[in-house]
Amino acid sequence: MVGKDCYAVFGYPIKHSKSPRIHQLFAEQTQQVIEYTAQEIPAERFGESVKAFFSQGGKGLNCTLPLKELAWAFADITTKRAELSKAVNTLLIQDDDRILGDNTDGCGLITDLTINHGISLEASRILILGAGGACRGILAPILERSPRQLILANRTRQKASDLAAEFCLFGDVEGSGFAELKGQQFDLIINATSASLNDELPPLEDDILAKDGVCYDLAYGNRPTAFVRWGVEQKAKKSLDGLGMLVEQAAEAFFLWRKIRPQTQPVIDVLNAARRFVSEVKGE
Ligand code: NAP
Repeated sequence: MVGKDCYAVFGYPIKHSKSPRIHQLFAEQTQQVIEYTAQEIPAERFGESVKAFFSQGGKGLNCTLPLKELAWAFADITTKRAELSKAVNTLLIQDDDRILGDNTDGCGLITDLTINHGISLEASRILILGAGGACRGILAPILERSPRQLILANRTRQKASDLAAEFCLFGDVEGSGFAELKGQQFDLIINATSASLNDELPPLEDDILAKDGVCYDLAYGNRPTAFVRWGVEQKAKKSLDGLGMLVEQAAEAFFLWRKIRPQTQPVIDVLNAARRFVSEVKGE
């Protein structure tokens, strides 16, 4: 690893990761010379692979599914937001050789919602679907915006209640099952379930989205996800997927590593153009 500073994303599977492209675009834009690779690492080889990467001079790592909790446990020190989410998506080696773990997912979502799409969280009635790792990472930053109402609904109701109880010191948040949502309306519905990965939709009533409401799916793909399509059917003012969040969390990681903040919109535009091409020409 002589010459370029080396970075990588570890995950399993990792073949379709957009992170190498995103970080290469950031590097070109900010005139940084880096190498960023995607490496398929099974959970049982995670610890040894991270040690090998850094001992060979690697500067920073991203960790994605299913390795974020392992990265949290592995890091020598963690930021407050990583501690709250009990998951780490960014590792960096410090001058004293200790490995710092951070989680940039929550701030990536907030930046995409509020800066890129001009959505105000403060006065909103917000519904989050799901109570897994991604939900844990976005709860505190959303509650810090003091929404008018925040409900967490999950298929396994107990997980939503437990998570709500854990985060209630940041603001009012209530756990729920899907059936109990009947008759309620929300200005912003965030899909933090993994249902879209199987082209499935959580069970939602047709009148649950308020007029001019917004839908946001953390998942993304080359074609609109099941939840994004549902939002369009519900006449959402905007029905968005998580590509912007992906780029924003990457920008925050890039900033941690390189101390330079790249512009994200040009990169989002490039990725959007690329997926339009894949979807139209290749039909994926
Ligand atoms: P996870 O920890 O495995 O949690 C999955 C959640 O989805 C659980 O709450 C589960 O409910 C629920 N679920 C799964 N299938 C469902 C279905 N058919 N109907 C209703 N609920 C269902 O996954 P995660 O790490 O939180 O990831 C969630 C999503 O966020 C994934 O799509 C991931 O790609 C996305 N994500 C995107 C970004 C980004 O940068 N855009 C970053 C992080 C995550 P139960 O508890 O009942 O099983």
